[in-house]
Amino acid sequence: MFEKVLIANRGEIALRIHRACREMGIGTVAVHSTADADAMHVRLADESVCIGPSAAQQSYMNIPAILSAAAISNADAIHPGYGFLSENANFATMVEEHGFTFIGPTPEHIRVMGNKVAAKKAALDAGIPVVRGSDGPVDDEATALEVAEEIGYPVIVKASAGGGGRGMKVANSPDDLRQGFKTARNEALAVFGNGEVYIERFLSHPRHIEVQVLADLHGNVVHLGERDCSLQRRHQKLVEEAPSPALNDKERDAIGAIARDAMVSMGYRSVGTLEFLYQDGEFNFIEMNTRLQVEHPVTEMICGMDLVREMVRVSAGAPLGFEQDDIRFSGHAIECRITAENSTTFLPSPGRVVDYHAPGGLGVRVDSALYSGYLVPPHYDSMIAKLIVHGATRNECLMRLCRALGEYVIGGLDTTIELHQRLVNEPAFVNGDYDIHWLERFVDQEDA
Ligand code: ADP
Repeated sequence: MFEKVLIANRGEIALRIHRACREMGIGTVAVHSTADADAMHVRLADESVCIGPSAAQQSYMNIPAILSAAAISNADAIHPGYGFLSENANFATMVEEHGFTFIGPTPEHIRVMGNKVAAKKAALDAGIPVVRGSDGPVDDEATALEVAEEIGYPVIVKASAGGGGRGMKVANSPDDLRQGFKTARNEALAVFGNGEVYIERFLSHPRHIEVQVLADLHGNVVHLGERDCSLQRRHQKLVEEAPSPALNDKERDAIGAIARDAMVSMGYRSVGTLEFLYQDGEFNFIEMNTRLQVEHPVTEMICGMDLVREMVRVSAGAPLGFEQDDIRFSGHAIECRITAENSTTFLPSPGRVVDYHAPGGLGVRVDSALYSGYLVPPHYDSMIAKLIVHGATRNECLMRLCRALGEYVIGGLDTTIELHQRLVNEPAFVNGDYDIHWLERFVDQEDA
């Protein structure tokens, strides 16, 4: 097993990884920007190294600085967390070339899955049902119009290198498509440095359902069930739950088995998530994330498993030690992503936390790096906490969530706690009756 792991991230996820390592008796090295010198992940780690100024490009994305930090601290392995360098195949390659273990999938799997066109092809070859669309990238307007005619409107133009819900344009007609195609290409080039786009059928009322997989280096793969992440605003997830209220056990087992078999045939390792749009009883693969995800705790809560611990173990070469049949799902879990933003206007609200009280009690988990007196810097993602609640049933989980949100105090900043409180009382949410467009309508209608 490793003696020391460098955590190439910040905030709640850096803390999450530190906690798993500490419980395994592994030393931790935190890296941080100058803006994060007082951050909790730095305070709790065994050692810390400043890797650059506040701008992420010069610190958390700075590969030479991170590799130097690993070298001077004598770390054996690097965990990238999510975001930043976690899906950068180049980084994974360099980590290994410098003699450290990359705690994650192979650089090759990251590369293939990082390009959505390549990922869809790999998925199709591995027997996964994919959303209908162009066979590959679409280079010009005439081809775009032809493809759309074939699959039928509405269609969505997406960036091959896309991520974070950016670079997508929906077109309801050929006129729309002419316009959207150009905009999507320009946006893709500007944001991702790669103007390649492709076309998919636009699904009007799907749910976003994703399957968690876990694999060791010896060909053992399990799936850990699904998460429903349909509550999104601007294609960004706000609330996630497991299991999905929309699936029955037969559908659950079927999609889990498809995901697991596909990972076996790809020779995948570490954790990964296959994302599907589920509509009218059909699963449509859209992409795969080759990293630990923000919403991994809901899976942990229903499986009773520490996913970060498993990631570390398998990266060190340990076999899984259990099989699919050993995995038991128990109860229901919901996660609320709490951001430093106004609950109605969504304007960012960084600043000093003057008062802090986190909820607790049976079945309540808070993953956050906040503390009283902490200054939330304006330079990074606005998510400041994840509140995760587990209950024996979905109803118990909802009642507990409502109770926990009511206890949560984060003074000095605007946060989205209020929005979550309104959400948990909405009949559509309570009944589990929502699709990926529902939250956007709910927020707009409140605005009006
Ligand atoms: P990203 O990597 O940017 O998150 P995804 O491909 O995962 O992009 O899509 C993000 C979200 O965009 C999905 O969860 C869904 O809400 C919406 N979306 C993507 N593709 C489609 C589609 N074909 N039809 C309808 N909505 C879509």
